[in-house]
Amino acid sequence: MRHIPYGRQDISEEDIEAVVDVLKTDWLTQGPTVERFEQMVAEYCGAKYAVAVNSATSALHIACMAAELQSGDCLWTSPNTFVASANCGLYCDADVDFVDIDEKTYNMSSTKLAEKLSHERIEGRLPKVVIPVHFAGQSCDMVTIAALAAEYDFTVIEDASHAIGGSYRDSKIGSCRYSDMTVFSFHPVKIVTTGEGGIVVTNRQDLYVKLLRLRSHGITRNSEDMMNDTHGPWYYEQIELGFNYRMTDIQAGLGISQMKRIDEFINKREEKAEYYTRALQGLPLTLPYQNDDIHSAWHLYVVKINNELCSKSRRQVFEELRDRGLGVNVHYIPVHTQPYYRQLGFSHGDFPVAEQYYEQAISIPMFYRLTNEEQDYIIQSIKEVLK
Ligand SMILES: *Cc1c(COP(=O)(O)O)cnc(C)c1O
Repeated sequence: MRHIPYGRQDISEEDIEAVVDVLKTDWLTQGPTVERFEQMVAEYCGAKYAVAVNSATSALHIACMAAELQSGDCLWTSPNTFVASANCGLYCDADVDFVDIDEKTYNMSSTKLAEKLSHERIEGRLPKVVIPVHFAGQSCDMVTIAALAAEYDFTVIEDASHAIGGSYRDSKIGSCRYSDMTVFSFHPVKIVTTGEGGIVVTNRQDLYVKLLRLRSHGITRNSEDMMNDTHGPWYYEQIELGFNYRMTDIQAGLGISQMKRIDEFINKREEKAEYYTRALQGLPLTLPYQNDDIHSAWHLYVVKINNELCSKSRRQVFEELRDRGLGVNVHYIPVHTQPYYRQLGFSHGDFPVAEQYYEQAISIPMFYRLTNEEQDYIIQSIKEVLK
């Protein structure tokens, strides 16, 4: 039977050659190819620095550490995200809280962020770090978030795992014009892949130096950062607790080759999104809303079932689409409703917009290699199921 996943990578002959080329060099682990990949991503986004790591989860972790998030501090993010955007706060022993989403974009609502900040200022529980997540590839309202960051003095880390190649106003996502750091994921289901992988981009040199160190055990070879005088050319010092979060040159080789095609990837996704949006009019569905000042990277194409107009439940629609071979999915189960987060004190009803959205959402297949014929089959199937 036919099976169309909701997302998948595209590996070209050039990608394969690029990986094989690295295998023939002296470096397998982090070496010159990682450095080239970092330069390429930074340049593409218009940021000064980039630090590549083994996943976006690791990238979020060291970004929080570079922001000096620790016990007694608070991190706020969106409930409509993958658990990693919140877990990074817990890794640092900080408290995690959420800001409910906007009804149209499904991103963290900047209005609710402003309200919550003004309320928590009175309680004395302001966040040290806020992580806006560019859901499905569409940027959050970064101008407002940056203004609030200046007023309330928190660090902004963009979780742009869905959004490399997208843009906001006049800048590419990752330019860090409105944030301190931006994180991308290179998991195979995302826009560009390295197998597993992630990166932090920033314009701040102080953060860059810390990120480099945290990626590799907290070790420095820079004499200016050392506590003691050098013992000789072999000498290094561990001055804080870091990790082995390094990306390999093998992965970076794939990343460089994939980055050469990023604009092609994004253009194709945009075309497919427009095609869906034209073809799915007039059904009991809410289609993705796009802000004028944003170009989404279209990681996901989410439709919402309009329960008042549709006789079938979301679950029924989902199962009937799966029966037709569509690898539909749901993004996301609100993080605060996960058992682990409930145990921390969250409960159903805390973030009602994200919860309501979750009850209705279905992600339909969206990836570079999706053929026109497959897309027509998907559209036909949705029409039949919703009839
Ligand atoms: C995929 C994803 C991550 C985690 O990425 P990994 O590279 O798999 O660690 C984090 N946040 C969001 C929003 C994601 O979609």
